[in-house]
This record gives sequence, structure tokens and C-alpha cells, in this order.
Amino acid sequence: LARAYVGLGSNVGDRRSNLTVALNGLSNLGKVVGGSPIYETDPVGNTNQDPFENAVVAIETDMSARSLLDGLLAIESSAGRERLERWGPRTLDLDILWFDGEVIDEPGLTVPHPRIRERKFVLAPLVYLAPGLEDAVGSYAKALTNVSEQGVRRVTGPVDVANLRWRIGLFEAMDLMTTDAGYTIYLAHDWVNRNGAIFGGFLGSSMLAVGAREHPDMVPTTMTYRYIKPVPEGGRADVKVVHERESPRSALMSMTIEIDGEEYGAAHLSVVVDRGETRVGRAMPDVLPIEECRPVDELMASIGDEPGNSVESWRPLERWDVPDLADGTSDAFRAWCPNPMEGSDNPYAAAAAAFLPIDALIWPATMTAAGRLSTGPFIFTPTVEITARFADTSNPGGFQLGEAVVDHMSTKSVAGTVRVWSTDGRHIATGHSLNLTIG
Ligand code: ATP
Ligand code: CA
Ligand code: CA
Repeated sequence: LARAYVGLGSNVGDRRSNLTVALNGLSNLGKVVGGSPIYETDPVGNTNQDPFENAVVAIETDMSARSLLDGLLAIESSAGRERLERWGPRTLDLDILWFDGEVIDEPGLTVPHPRIRERKFVLAPLVYLAPGLEDAVGSYAKALTNVSEQGVRRVTGPVDVANLRWRIGLFEAMDLMTTDAGYTIYLAHDWVNRNGAIFGGFLGSSMLAVGAREHPDMVPTTMTYRYIKPVPEGGRADVKVVHERESPRSALMSMTIEIDGEEYGAAHLSVVVDRGETRVGRAMPDVLPIEECRPVDELMASIGDEPGNSVESWRPLERWDVPDLADGTSDAFRAWCPNPMEGSDNPYAAAAAAFLPIDALIWPATMTAAGRLSTGPFIFTPTVEITARFADTSNPGGFQLGEAVVDHMSTKSVAGTVRVWSTDGRHIATGHSLNLTIG
């Protein structure tokens, strides 16, 4: 089987449904094994046309590159593609970007696609999907850091391969949020585990999204949430917001999330007028570059853990830098996390992105620490409470580094700290977590 990365683009008609036609068409040419989020991108070359939606899909296929190309051209025609002018508007464009590391230079077929490195609209989704991918010239992640500026805005989550659809990111889902009687949130977004359940990242982000609506002129500074149980995907949740305190310079809100009248979690958020000061935080640790870190499921397999539910729920944490996890000589858990809010200049969205590694990393740190206590058996509840403090979360870029350390550990409780840095080394958030024993 060959692995291929296919670039998708559309800027005519219903772009989202054109891309969905492509996704379904691709599933007939091979097995869809992954798909990037959709990015809305400013046109390049011929700039006098509407913005595109672009994505990259990975398939495994027993076809040759040539017959794959024939298949792609057929899908383009079925979506009504007409070739009028070079680099002009199109309902659907499908390019073979990379085909199993092959180098092909024939009439009508060049692989890898010769213009990948000059196109942010290709590199951004490609690197999201395959951070370690490279060709003879070098790594695409590096090329992404060098490509010239182009408007590229992430508008969905990645492809849900089981259901062949794009997940809708939380802040996009917020556009559907109604405020008639409190807030209603539709439970379709990125951070879903294998069981279709949504954990703390959802609660925290929901609180931040409410803050963004209520106080768009302020920035989040501190958030605490209490977690009760996993939120199911699908359907709707009711959010009740209480304004605890308000002044012209700051505000404090609390909220609860209910589904069918049952409470799933609660949170507090304080926001302040942004004074624009840069704060000092702990320096970023020396870490391996993203491409050299191990994928999370490989790491879990190497320490004998089933790549099951827990790995799936940390899916946003894709690459790990924890060389000594198994033998217990390192207490720091570090992971590079794709930033699901990349491209947004909303400080609440940036805080939600920084909150994700805080919520997700504390759990593996806790569980491994618990495994080293020989006094069991005992188990810890999922996160009881997390408090996150946000510093300068502006423009955090495509990835963030999270580091979790366990501060204290006993058979009664465990407390930990997670720090988050942007790729340019700024300390952008700190979280404190408390879990209690049950059983
Ligand atoms: P660009 O190649 O710069 O992205 P385009 O996608 O707009 O431009 P098209 O008009 O869609 O160009 O395609 C022109 C021809 O390019 C196709 O008919 C195909 O034969 C050829 N081609 C060569 N290499 C590839 C490739 N890797 N993937 C898709 N098409 C390719
Ligand atoms: Ca193209
Ligand atoms: Ca093409």
C-alpha cells in the first residue's frame, strides 16, 4: 500500500460541500487515514478572485500515482470543474502533493508537487496533518516557517475519518451559539475522544467563548473549572452564566453546563482590560524539535500502554519529548500540541488553545506518578479542579509546548502544574490541578 497526501482546494460555489464531495470521492480511491482542518486562504497568483478553502487528505491506496491522478481528475469533473484560466477560480482542485516518497517527473505528472514550498495554503494543512513529512529537499515543517506571508485562517477541526466529515472547531460552533435564554452550545467540535465524549478542554473553552461574547473588549486572565463528567458529543448543552462582578476595568463570571437538566461542569472566569504589558515567566526548557519527537501513540506503545481511550483523548498532543518516561528518571511530561485556534487574533481563542495542553497533559503526568507509588490500589478521579492563568497569549502560532510536573502525590490526592510556551519561547499560561482519590 502506498501513502499519498492530496491537496484540496475550492473557491467557487459551496466550497464546503465541494470539499466534502472530494473527501467522499477519495474514499473510493483508497482508505482515508487522515485529513487536516479546512483553512480559508487568500488567493495567490491571481488575487482577483474569492478566497479558497483548502485542506490536505492522507490516503492509503494500492493505485499507482498515475491512476490516482486519473481518479482525482474524475472527481474534479464530477464537482463541475472547468479549466478556463491558469490558477483561476475553480469548484474543486485536487493535486497529488506527495506519493509514498516517490519522485516522478513525467508529462502531466510531477511528484512531489513542485510548488508545495511556496504555498502556505498547502504547507499549513500539510504540516498540521504530517508534522514530520519531508521530501528530498527537506522538511515541510521547516518550509512552513520560511514561506512568505499569506492569509490562512483555520475554520474547522481535522477530518473525523470514521465518519468522513470535518469536525467543526469550538469557536466556529460558537457562531451557532444562541443567547435568547442563557447560551446554547452545539456539541460538535474537535476535542472528542474515541467514545465520543468531551472532557475538560470543552468546559474551559466554552467558558472562554462566553467571555469573548460578554466582554470582547477585555482579555482572560484566570479561569477555574470543576469537572463532573464527560460531555457527550452531539446535541446541545445549556450554559447558564452568572455575572458575579463587573467594573469598567474587570469582570468575574461563572457558568454551569447542563445537558437535559443535568450538570456536567462549572467554571469561573476573570477578565481584565489589557494593559499590554509583557509578563515574565519560566524560561522554555530545552526540547527536541517537533520533527524529532515521538508520536504519542508510539510512545504509549513503547511503555506498554494500550493505545486506546486515553491516547485518543490526548489526540491534540501529537508529539512527545519525554525520553525517560518509562524508567522514571524524568518527572516532566512535555508535548508539542497543535494550536487549534491558529490564525485567530481573539485573545479568548488563544487562551482556549493554551488551556488545552493544561487540561490534557496533567492526566498522563498524574497517572504515571501514581504508577510509581507502590501503596495502591487506589484510583484518582478525573480532574477535580484546574486553575489556569493566562499571560500574553497573543499570536501563539501553529504549535505550543506543554510541560506537566507533579507537585505532590499521596494516596489521598495529587497536585500538578502545567506550563505552556509558544514556539517563540514565550511563557503564555500556567495551570494548577488537583485530583482526589476515590476507591
Ligand atoms: P498547480 O499545479 O500550480 O497547482 P493547477 O492545480 O491550477 O496548478 P490544473 O489546471 O489543476 O493546475 O492541472 C493541470 C495539470 O497538472 C493536470 O492536468 C495534471 O496532469 C498536471 N499535474 C502534474 N503534476 C500533478 C500533480 N502532482 N497533481 C495534480 N496534477 C498534476
Ligand atoms: Ca493546484
Ligand atoms: Ca490541479
